[in-house]
Amino acid sequence: MAAMLTGCGIATASPHVKPLVPSEPTLINYVDPAMVHGLSTRSLNTGETAGRHVHAIYPAVAEAPLLTEKLRETVTERLDRFTRHDVPAGAFPNPEFNVEWQLAAASPEVLGVRLRIGQSMGSGWSESRTTVWYDREHRRALDSPDLLRDGTALTTLTWLVRRELALRGPLVNPNALRPTPAMFDSIGFNPRGDLVVEFDDEQVGLGVAGRVAVAVPSSTAAPLLSATGLRARRAAVGTATLTSQEDMLAARRDRPAARSYKAGGVDCAKAKCVALTYEDGPGPETGRLLNILGAYRARATFFVLGSNASARPELLRRMRDEGHLVANHSWSHRDLTVLPPAMLTDQLTRAQYAITQAIGQVPTLMRPPYGVTDVQVASIARRLGMSVVRWNVDVEDQRDSNPRTIARRAIAQVKPGSIVLMHAFRGATVDAAPEILRGLAAKGYTFVTVPELYGSRPMEPGRTYDSGAVSTVLEKQSVS
Ligand code: ZN
Repeated sequence: MAAMLTGCGIATASPHVKPLVPSEPTLINYVDPAMVHGLSTRSLNTGETAGRHVHAIYPAVAEAPLLTEKLRETVTERLDRFTRHDVPAGAFPNPEFNVEWQLAAASPEVLGVRLRIGQSMGSGWSESRTTVWYDREHRRALDSPDLLRDGTALTTLTWLVRRELALRGPLVNPNALRPTPAMFDSIGFNPRGDLVVEFDDEQVGLGVAGRVAVAVPSSTAAPLLSATGLRARRAAVGTATLTSQEDMLAARRDRPAARSYKAGGVDCAKAKCVALTYEDGPGPETGRLLNILGAYRARATFFVLGSNASARPELLRRMRDEGHLVANHSWSHRDLTVLPPAMLTDQLTRAQYAITQAIGQVPTLMRPPYGVTDVQVASIARRLGMSVVRWNVDVEDQRDSNPRTIARRAIAQVKPGSIVLMHAFRGATVDAAPEILRGLAAKGYTFVTVPELYGSRPMEPGRTYDSGAVSTVLEKQSVS
C-alpha cells in the first residue's frame, strides 16, 4: 500500500481545534461511555474498497434497540449517499468517509448520542453533526427537534439563533436558517444547561467558518423544551466535557510501557514466530476472539481504536491480563496523512489516553488507519514514543465473509517473522481463528506479540515495521 502525502485546506470541527466562533459555551458534553451499562460499539468498515477510505463507528445500547437502529439508519443512509458518488480516477488523497460519536448526556432518564459524520471526495473535508436522543422511561428514540415543545418553540428558537448568528461576521449567513427540523438535527446542552444548537459545515455559512454553533442561555431555553427536553437538560448539567490534551499527556507519566506479560519465553531468532494483529476493536466479537486465542495459548497484538476502548475498557484489561499486547490505532480511524499536525496528534493522544486509563500502561506501538503513513505520521509517532507497525500478510478479511478462505489465505502466506493484518470486529475473522491457529501451529509456528519478533532489539519510536525485518519501504517526503 502506498504511503500518502499530506493534504491541506481542511476545514475542521474537532473539539480540540479552535473554531472561529467562541467555543466554550457551545461545547457539548462528553460523557464517559463506560458509565452506560450494556453499551458497545459497532463499526462499519469497507476498508479500501473502490479506492475509498470508509470507517464509521456508532454505539449500540443493549436496552435501547430503537436508539441503536436509528443510529445505524442515520449512518448507513449517509454512507450509501457517499458511495453513490463516483470516485474520480486517480483521486488523491483517497475519498474518505468517517463517523465518530460521543455521549452528549446519560442519566437514568435519557441518553444523547452525537454523531460527527465527515467526508471528503478527495480534497476538503466537510462535517455534519446529528444528535439523537433516547427517552429511557418511554423507550423512544427521538430526533433533536423533539426536545422542543412544539412548532412555535422551533420558530422562537430559530429567531433567537438567527439573532446570535447575525453577530458572527461575514462568513455566517443568518438568513440561511429556517425553522425546519432538518436544520435543527443537532441540539444538545453544555454543562451549565444552556441549549446548544450546532450546524453542519456550509449549512449557515461558508465552510471555512468551521463548526458554527450557538448557545441559548438556560433560562431563555427552558420554556421551549418538551418533557424529554427537560430530562435531557437535567442529564447534561454538571457533566464533564472533553479532557484537555495537556491532561491526556500528563496521564501517561509514571505509567509503565505496555508489553505482554507473557513475553520473553520465545527466541524468534530460533523459533518460527508469527505476530497476529487484530485492529479496529474492541467490538462485539472481541470477547469471543479472546476465548479462542486463550484456548490455543496464542498471544496477539490488538491495535484498538480509542473511541472503542473508552466504551469497553474491560475488554482491554482482559487483553492485558491474558498476555496480549494493546496498541494504538488512533481515536476514530481517520486517514492520518491528510490531517494537519494538531489533529493528527489529537487522534493519537486521545487514543493513548483512553488505553492508558483502561490498562494503566502506555502503548509503544501504533498502526495508522488503512496502513497509510508518511514522514509527518512517523515524526509525531516518534514524539509520542510509538513505533509505526504495518503488516506483510493481509488475509483480506474485509472483502471475505468465508472463514475457510480467510484461514487458508493466512496459512498459505505466513512466513517466519510475518505480521498478519486482521480485524477484531468481524465475525468471519473470529470464526477463522481456530483454523488459522491450528494450521500455523501444525507448521511449527509460535504466536507472539509484535515486539517479540525483534527479540532483544528494542523497537524504535517513529520507525516503521511491517515484518520481522525492519521496513525497507521508504516513506515518501510529505509536501504541504
Ligand atoms: Zn483499521
